[in-house]
Amino acid sequence: MEVAPSLPEQLQSRCCIAGGGPAGIMLGFLLARAGIDVLVLEKHADFLRDFRGDTVHPSTLETMHELGLLEEFLKRPHQEISQVRARIGGEPVLLGNMSYLRTQCRFMALMPQWDFLNFLGEQGRRYPTFHLRMQAEVTGLIEENGRIVGIRGSTPTIPLEVRADLVVGADGRNSLVRDCAGLTMENVGASMDALQLRLSKRADDPTLFLYTDRGKSIVTIDRGDYWHCGFVVPKGTAEQMQARGVEDFRAAIVEIAPFLRDRVAEVRDWDDVKLLTVRADRLRKWYRPGLLCIGDAAHAMSPVGGVGINLAIQDAVAAANMLAEPLRQSGVNVGHLAKIQRRRAFPTRLTQRMQGVIQKQVWRGLGNSEPTRPPWPLRLLERTTLPCRMRTRFIAVGFRPEHVKTPDVYRVQSKANS
Ligand SMILES: Cc1cc2nc3c(=O)[nH]c(=O)nc-3n(C[C@H](O)[C@H](O)[C@H](O)COP(=O)(O)OP(=O)(O)OC[C@H]3O[C@@H](n4cnc5c(N)ncnc54)[C@H](O)[C@@H]3O)c2cc1C
Repeated sequence: MEVAPSLPEQLQSRCCIAGGGPAGIMLGFLLARAGIDVLVLEKHADFLRDFRGDTVHPSTLETMHELGLLEEFLKRPHQEISQVRARIGGEPVLLGNMSYLRTQCRFMALMPQWDFLNFLGEQGRRYPTFHLRMQAEVTGLIEENGRIVGIRGSTPTIPLEVRADLVVGADGRNSLVRDCAGLTMENVGASMDALQLRLSKRADDPTLFLYTDRGKSIVTIDRGDYWHCGFVVPKGTAEQMQARGVEDFRAAIVEIAPFLRDRVAEVRDWDDVKLLTVRADRLRKWYRPGLLCIGDAAHAMSPVGGVGINLAIQDAVAAANMLAEPLRQSGVNVGHLAKIQRRRAFPTRLTQRMQGVIQKQVWRGLGNSEPTRPPWPLRLLERTTLPCRMRTRFIAVGFRPEHVKTPDVYRVQSKANS
């Protein structure tokens, strides 16, 4: 007997956000805090995915401070780094120094992305207008007369239809929303990929962030009791590396970071290694009537500088600042959406350009077995503090830092009632 398909659950919201990553959850949180009814749909059952962005820069910590959440946030387990040091061709190089910044926090917090998202989700749930639905996958858009008016989705039990004044695509670098809307990407080019793995950490390990020599390079991110490592390879060559065998891979790691010799066997086989195919791209147009894309859905960033989460958060803050009022009045038009693109496309382009320059300087000898010397611009920068300060500022704070302008309407109300 054929089972009749169940009718979709019909929902209505001022703003429906596809994707509960940093961009989607932060935008949902800010709008709900401003009293706007918002529904965030996340396809996974939880946020537990390893090897995601976990470098929370001073710009994001500043946002937390402006929201009055910083103290609570920093109670979660994390590591703090204020100087980003590397060894390039045997020479020590200071890549960034955050102790000069004029921000609330002069350090980068390293926190697994799931802890960051759980924290924001918990904060969002304090507001009655914040709705986060897990295991709800967006499968298509509803379009009427050239305007996006909602989304179609699926859950483990029932299909979903959500009508909204505004749909936001915050569904990451493989955004389905963006594809369904027919928005086109511009490829910015990325010359490397990264093989990601974990290795345990010992108390007397060096605390450098990057080791580069003889065409090989590994990034080591402190995760408390282990290193989250990214072994950088020229784009498209990961398969060749895998074909040479895991023994060869282990030897390559030890060659540039000898302190890992006693634990490199923790990489038992290729199942312990995850390939990050690095992409750098951006949308030509971030919006259509009724729809806006932000975060990785609008621009995938290369991992250089660990700016991905932070740019996604900045997009969310800018979008909330410009959308809260028009959403309250049900009057979002393409003018508002174009303004958000104009504001955020500029720092995105500049950051991608700067990532390209750093990529060329630090990883120019990738794949070639000649001894590496830090390139002259980096050696020159080493002798002067100003360029190091500038480089740090652009990465840690961004080219156009955003400030929270949306109110916490519930706090305002409770003050008025007391
Ligand atoms: C392996 C890896 C390592 C990285 N390392 C760093 C780093 O160290 N530092 C850094 O700053 N950045 C890093 N990044 C980038 C960083 O994770 C992203 O830039 C950042 O998470 C972007 O946030 P987002 O919210 O725009 O998108 P995402 O974080 O990708 O979030 C999108 C969300 O949408 C959900 N979703 C997708 N499709 C659908 C759908 N159809 N319906 C419903 N939900 C959907 C996804 O499950 C996900 O939760 C890394 C990225 C990767 C892939």
